[in-house]
Amino acid sequence: MPKKLLSATLATACVIAATATAQTWEENLAAGAATTEQNHLNVPFTQMKNMKTAFSSPGNWPIFENRGPLDRSPTDKPSKVLVMGSGDPNPNPYRYGPALAVIVNDYPYFIDAGEGWWRALGKSVQSQDAMDLATIMNVPNIKYMFLTHLHEDHTVGLPSFILNPFKFGSNLAVVDKKVYGPAGVDEMMASINDAWRIDRNEMAQGSTVQKFDGATAVGVPVWPHVDVNGRKIFEDDNVLVEAFPTAHGFLENTHAYRFTTKPDGRVLVFGGDGHYSEGLVNAAKDADLLFIEGITRKNIKYAPWGGDSEEEKVKVIGAYHMFPSDMKKLQDDSGVKGIVMVHVQNYNSPEDFDRLSVLQEMIGEGVVNILQASDGDLY
Ligand SMILES: [Zn+2]
Ligand SMILES: [Zn+2]
Repeated sequence: MPKKLLSATLATACVIAATATAQTWEENLAAGAATTEQNHLNVPFTQMKNMKTAFSSPGNWPIFENRGPLDRSPTDKPSKVLVMGSGDPNPNPYRYGPALAVIVNDYPYFIDAGEGWWRALGKSVQSQDAMDLATIMNVPNIKYMFLTHLHEDHTVGLPSFILNPFKFGSNLAVVDKKVYGPAGVDEMMASINDAWRIDRNEMAQGSTVQKFDGATAVGVPVWPHVDVNGRKIFEDDNVLVEAFPTAHGFLENTHAYRFTTKPDGRVLVFGGDGHYSEGLVNAAKDADLLFIEGITRKNIKYAPWGGDSEEEKVKVIGAYHMFPSDMKKLQDDSGVKGIVMVHVQNYNSPEDFDRLSVLQEMIGEGVVNILQASDGDLY
């Protein structure tokens, strides 16, 4: 077979393998547990001797990132959720920072802009063939962003969200991008617009079609128009979005977003970071899917932050994140039908590390219909 044709055939085979659709929770769980070929497994890897830093954490090792993107979405629902980045602050080179997208009627709505946002989008577009993501994600459609909170790991991709599409022609770019988020998002957006002023100026001068405004965005604070019972903050022909308060460390304002998709009535909730709270329960009430973080309790002593003793780590980390007991209570009290974990903090010794052990802890705690996402997955 000619080399070119062979590689095209292989590429097709890989796409099919990567996007085989599974339907039941059990089938999806089994598909997620399987190992699939990943190019990055060929990356040279040296096991580090000093296991005490964020860089050496086993969760970041390529040998533990051994599955490709899956299409776990229901085939009878046209609205989808694309996991672009499933990472957290740990410097894991195989997971981009927190970034998701709801796609309804071939139009995307983005949730959180973690590290590597633009590249995460590139990887995701190439990972799935259930829909024409290359067209759906084209520059003119990159307009709406919803931020769960203003921590750096969820916002550092904002300059990419604004400026990278602009580099491909602002005659296409949206001039009034909207970034919904907690109080302070307006100041953050104004600062980002200002910080890249030189770049925008130069691009506008060097082109006959680009306009300066093509690379700016407006921050829209959703607080204080939100209470524990939720409040509608956005609606168009595709989605209705409600915001709810959540609890995450010492941030005054953090939000969950509840999307109701109009064509097929899916209720998709994005909880961001945080532990159990009344607002999060209300956000996830009887929802179809909740995208939420999770963290180990069993192996918390291996966390490279939060204090010196296990007791101290449980106290400090528990004020920020979702232990299995919290997840169980959240599911019981909200009646949410399914949970997809992203931003998973999986700490353990190198000898005992298992990429699905936090998922197993959650299941062991009694949480049902729960999956763990990888970058490029579709739900
Ligand atoms: Zn985070
Ligand atoms: Zn956070």
